[in-house]
Amino acid sequence: MSREQQAVALARKAFETGRSKSLEHRIRQLKNLQRLFTERQKEISNAIKKDLNKSEVGAQLYETLGLEGEISLAISKLKEWAAPRPVQKNLLTLSDTVYIKPEPLGVVLIIGAWNYPWAVTIQPLIGAIAAGNAAVVKPSEVCVHTAKVMEELLPLYIDKELYPVVTGGVPETQELLRQRFDHIFYTGNSMVGKVIMEAAAKHLTPVTLELGGKSPCYIDKNCDISIACRRVAWGKYTNCGQTCIAPDYILCEASIHDRVIEEVKKAIKEFYTDNPKACPDYGRIINQRHFKRIMALLENSTIAVGGDNDESNCYIAPTVLCDVKPEAKVMQEEIFGPVLPILTVSGLDEAIKFINKGEKPLALYVFTPDDKVIQRMIDETSSGGLLANDCLVHYSVSSLPFGGVGNSGMGCYHGKFSFDQLSHLRSCLLKKLNMEGVNSMRYPPHTPKKLGWH
Ligand code: NAD
Repeated sequence: MSREQQAVALARKAFETGRSKSLEHRIRQLKNLQRLFTERQKEISNAIKKDLNKSEVGAQLYETLGLEGEISLAISKLKEWAAPRPVQKNLLTLSDTVYIKPEPLGVVLIIGAWNYPWAVTIQPLIGAIAAGNAAVVKPSEVCVHTAKVMEELLPLYIDKELYPVVTGGVPETQELLRQRFDHIFYTGNSMVGKVIMEAAAKHLTPVTLELGGKSPCYIDKNCDISIACRRVAWGKYTNCGQTCIAPDYILCEASIHDRVIEEVKKAIKEFYTDNPKACPDYGRIINQRHFKRIMALLENSTIAVGGDNDESNCYIAPTVLCDVKPEAKVMQEEIFGPVLPILTVSGLDEAIKFINKGEKPLALYVFTPDDKVIQRMIDETSSGGLLANDCLVHYSVSSLPFGGVGNSGMGCYHGKFSFDQLSHLRSCLLKKLNMEGVNSMRYPPHTPKKLGWH
């Protein structure tokens, strides 16, 4: 038996004991997970620093604080989420008991990505535990140090049979994917998303795919451009642009094109000084493969800001590209790096047309003081999430479902949505054996007389 088969078999066997179903057990596991973040923050931050050069504060702000919030929410709401949910009845079931009972799915496979390695791997695990499942956790191999720390720490805090960690790269993930799961929760790029779905189809396993894509950002000429650009620069250059919901590119009218460049430049200087390379708050590209990929996107483009780079430590300065054409290389794939192209459009109509020509994005940003512009964006486009006059923060609202649509993914999570996503919502209708007379109409023979049709 391979290591992967063993982990799945162990999780399955542990699930079959029934212990993951008890609410006490779920809460205990969630509390243990919470304790892990309090007691092991230093080890977590050190590993993230080595992988992505995130500062300790950055690691807390963008990874663990959100997770701790999600754990607290799940602990406080679990009883309510797991309780039977009474529903409206119809005439035929008026005297029956009718409700939805969330029940665990079984063994979930969680495949994480590297860019926020704790957030995107542990957040689904919180949902899996809360919903009463077992889960095999596969952190991204790209985040070498974090994967190792996760593999060491999780079994020290939570039930290691119910929630085993399997590390490894593509061959190990593919071996996992050959096993039978009751749900697969994958975070990563859309191409691999298709590989996951194909593997899941063999066992008819449902999937949640948290993918990426090019998230557009439209800046209206009438807005406070300085504030808009400051918020966009924050959304773009946090984690060096390696954020699934980072604004990928800016669409604006030609009349504000130069002003947008100036304001983004100002914000870069304010956040990361004149020398971002030496700034503790500015990250690094995850590895040389991604460094080369991002640098290749800059070919034949006009750099308005930044562009400096150093392959030896995967540094690419916060960069702005001006006068970018839709056919440019940088517009053909998700950038996932600190490069911000600016494209000009004639106005809102053209911006909407442009957005709708592409795949449905994970996030869509619109900066404007005009509610009508926001409403048109909502009504005339589609995306996983839409945010007006800010970037990224919708991710932190547990009461909003987080997920993509079309090419940016399927299914959603965070807060109660995680619980529901990893539960089977079972329909329960409980009748008594009395009142048989009421049923007489439904039994054959279906004569018009019996039905009251003359
Ligand atoms: P990655 O390279 O870490 O891959 C993700 C996981 O897929 C890893 O665990 C890896 O082992 C596995 N994998 C890779 N290739 C595979 C294959 N051929 N077969 C089976 N498994 C394979 O991460 P990535 O894909 O580079 O992540 C970046 C992408 O993820 C971006 O597109 C980003 O937008 C997206 N993302 C989305 C979200 C979200 O919540 N929607 C969050 C983070 C990242």
